[in-house]
Amino acid sequence: MTDRALVAVLLARFVRARWGLRFRSRARFEAWQARRIRSFLRRIARAPYYRGGAPGAAAGPGAIVAPAPGARAPSLAALPVIDKSVLLEHFDGLNTRGVRLADALGVALEAERTRDFRPVLGGDLTVGLSSGTSGRRGVFLVSPRERMLWAGTILGRVLDGASLRQVLMPWRPPLGIAFFLRAGGNLYESVASSRIRFAFFDLTEPLEAHVERLVAAREEGRGPEVLVAPPSVLDALAVRALRGERSVAPRLVISVAEVLEPATAERVRRAWGSEPRQVYQATEGLLGISCEQGALHLNEESVHVEREWLGAAPGEGRTRFTPVVTDFDRRTQIIARYRLDDVLRVDTAAPERCACGRVTVVIAAVDGRADAVLHLPSTDGLRVVEVFPDAVRRAMAVESGGFADWRIRQTGLRLQVALADPDRDAGARVTAALAALFESYGCAAPVELVPWVPPLPAEKVRRIVREDAS
Ligand SMILES: [Zn+2]
Repeated sequence: MTDRALVAVLLARFVRARWGLRFRSRARFEAWQARRIRSFLRRIARAPYYRGGAPGAAAGPGAIVAPAPGARAPSLAALPVIDKSVLLEHFDGLNTRGVRLADALGVALEAERTRDFRPVLGGDLTVGLSSGTSGRRGVFLVSPRERMLWAGTILGRVLDGASLRQVLMPWRPPLGIAFFLRAGGNLYESVASSRIRFAFFDLTEPLEAHVERLVAAREEGRGPEVLVAPPSVLDALAVRALRGERSVAPRLVISVAEVLEPATAERVRRAWGSEPRQVYQATEGLLGISCEQGALHLNEESVHVEREWLGAAPGEGRTRFTPVVTDFDRRTQIIARYRLDDVLRVDTAAPERCACGRVTVVIAAVDGRADAVLHLPSTDGLRVVEVFPDAVRRAMAVESGGFADWRIRQTGLRLQVALADPDRDAGARVTAALAALFESYGCAAPVELVPWVPPLPAEKVRRIVREDAS
């Protein structure tokens, strides 16, 4: 694709994301989505994994069962559900450009090592690594067209009116967007222009140096107007601003990459007077964006989401599920019926149509990854009880006056709690709060207090982690 064609893709998607795709009912939206999925299914055989066997030739492992004579098209339900291990095992067959896993991994790991993310594969493909703290990391290919769709969607959905006017008026300074990233600025540099200026901040480097650079830019009147960062960084910058220390003063705050906890959202509101917008982004795709009404909508305009329901918490109906996603906008790496590691919670109180006009599903929260759900023995010892992260976070929040930060790690049956900078009796209070929580779930586990280990700056903040005992 030429640069002009790419800009056209970006603009078209920006317009669609900002003003387009309003449906009168959920049923009409689903009919539209079903048409998009049908054309995706017609293209899918370009990936060898899904190729049906010609007579005498082998079929791909995920070959769609040939539709019965007279049937119109294969259905999504005919495809196997896959996960990260299948994706890695069949990587070569799950992309349409013939890229081999070894080559993609080579490029991605070299980029992480050298912090130079410019190299591409096959002429124009960027490679993303999913952050797996345990187990193998996922590898994802993205084409320039797909990058433009991504950028057009995000900018169209979250830019506030003032920022959009700043971009459109050539006599105003360009819009400054500060981006805190673990890796890979080239994904975003490609959408920079004379009207938008991106500045990147590598999360593997200490925050102090970044703050100096941001404050200097602010004092020279160069923004940034928009701050995009994981909640842990937003929190640190908001706390500085609230203490009256030198910090940034963004007009628009966008939270990415980690779960945005209510306490952080509140600090952002107090520090800068704006409601943080939330982007639920996995390496696997752009899965959700909060609207101007504050509702976190699944990105169903690009991704079809099936729900694998999980057990219910005490006193609640079934609200939590693991998403199985099909990204029908992607053509390079096929993401079809891919099971994510995450746990989502539907907002049962949300109306069919949000006040913003969208009929896409609203989720109450991304509760975190599936391995942030504690698995504890029931009091009678007969079964395993799932304790969900939001319940644990609430219990910890009640006691949060007594410490600065916390982590919980379950390894087999051991449950370790670390508190940063705790008061004298914080440990005892936290232990009691967790015991009460577990009792309400009908389970029990002894809590072991362990010393706090400060996290590395680039480490993804995961307060709750469950590991298998080894
Ligand atoms: Zn909405």
